[in-house]
Amino acid sequence: MTLVDRVSTIFLAALALVLIVYSALFWAIARHDLNSQFDQELSSALGSIVAAVEVEDEDVSWQPTEHTLNLGSSDDVEQVRWAVIGDDFRLVDSSRNSSPTFLEHAKLLASRTSTKDSSEQITIDDWRYITQRLEAPAPDRELRDFDEYDAVVIVVGKSTAVLSSTTLRLTALVCLLPISGWLLAAAVGRRLCRRALQPLLEMSQTVRSMSAANFAERLTANSAPTELASFADAFNGLLDRLQHSYESQRRFTGDAAHELRTPLTVLLGQIEVALRKSRSPDEYRSTLDLLHHQAVELREILESLLFLARAESTDEIPDRQHFDLGDWAQRYLEHWNEHPRRADLSLQSNGAVPVNTSPTLLARSVDNLVSNGLKYSAPGAPVILKIDRTGNDALLSVHDQGPGIPGDELPHLFEPFYRSARARQSGAPGVGLGLAVASRIATAIGARINCESEPGRGSTFFLRMPLATP
Ligand code: ADP
Repeated sequence: MTLVDRVSTIFLAALALVLIVYSALFWAIARHDLNSQFDQELSSALGSIVAAVEVEDEDVSWQPTEHTLNLGSSDDVEQVRWAVIGDDFRLVDSSRNSSPTFLEHAKLLASRTSTKDSSEQITIDDWRYITQRLEAPAPDRELRDFDEYDAVVIVVGKSTAVLSSTTLRLTALVCLLPISGWLLAAAVGRRLCRRALQPLLEMSQTVRSMSAANFAERLTANSAPTELASFADAFNGLLDRLQHSYESQRRFTGDAAHELRTPLTVLLGQIEVALRKSRSPDEYRSTLDLLHHQAVELREILESLLFLARAESTDEIPDRQHFDLGDWAQRYLEHWNEHPRRADLSLQSNGAVPVNTSPTLLARSVDNLVSNGLKYSAPGAPVILKIDRTGNDALLSVHDQGPGIPGDELPHLFEPFYRSARARQSGAPGVGLGLAVASRIATAIGARINCESEPGRGSTFFLRMPLATP
């Protein structure tokens, strides 16, 4: 089902529901009003006729001339009809438009009306009647004139034909109007929906035409409604981030290939030279030593690359432990015992600094900082590993008295493959992956890494991580 179909179906269903409820309510109220108007007319006619009856103690008399009674004076069959029935169902008077059937019904109803002063409503065929009986409290026939009675029954009636046809017209109107309105909405609704959803359809076409490697295209939402404009903004933001990540991945892959090619070329060159003629065992040994050195370097680069690639998707810290950073640093420095500059390396630790992290990843990160300190400073210059705390953070720093780093290079230090021109020229070994790995590890273990340096006065790398709560 397309979105246009779905939206127009929901819209038409909602419209149908609203129309049904509205029409039903309208029909019920209008029908009720018509009926009460009809009954009102009958009741007021009955009231006028009752006023022309004089009720005394001994008798009841019909006095239409003494009271103003215009009702029923026309021949109009649609008008209210009335009849006054006296004792023994004798017709006392009736309206001019009364028909024999009406008079027959009136006598029948008079015979059924026995309760004094009660008025009741009865429907026979297409006629609605209202009756009222008026009685003398103590009837005395002895002294009575011919136009005086024990009781009279007043019957008022009116045909419901007009009421029925009006109700029928109302019903037809209430059904037909909403149905035609709904059909009209169904005819134009789909087109309107398509028009309203046009910006979304255009966006989906643009997205479909985007290729996986081409991030140049963006969604345009100038004329789109606010919600779609904000969706387009969010989508474009996602594309920006993807483009940035894609480009840095591409750069990373290019740099990685380049860095791997150099030692591989050297390795192949040395093998070719060694194979050109037969050599003495000592010559083969020294060539193999060289090849071994190159291979170890290659393996280190590959391991760093693998770590950087894997670290992207690492969410959990392996072997997380609760330990004291000062104690850990003391044990850690033992790894450097075989290093020629071990004597330059010292530890300053200040009280208990509890942390909760992975000692393996921490050691790997600090390895890169310490080896840089030793690599970029002159033999004999001290490299100090310091453990401290600031506020709620544990602070590990590595300070050296090397050449320092100019301010404009500081923002690039943690980018993969970044090496300063000075480091390249000095011939110091490395490919620019150590600090990138250290920074990735810091992020993985919830630490922050930064560097403060002053050219000519050395550098300090800081690793801050939250203190462990007991
Ligand atoms: P590598 O040391 O293999 O070049 P790193 O990622 O460890 O790669 O370091 C990146 C660059 O940062 C180095 O090339 C160097 O220019 C600079 N650098 C890192 N540590 C120091 C330091 N302690 N003193 C001076 N420069 C440093």
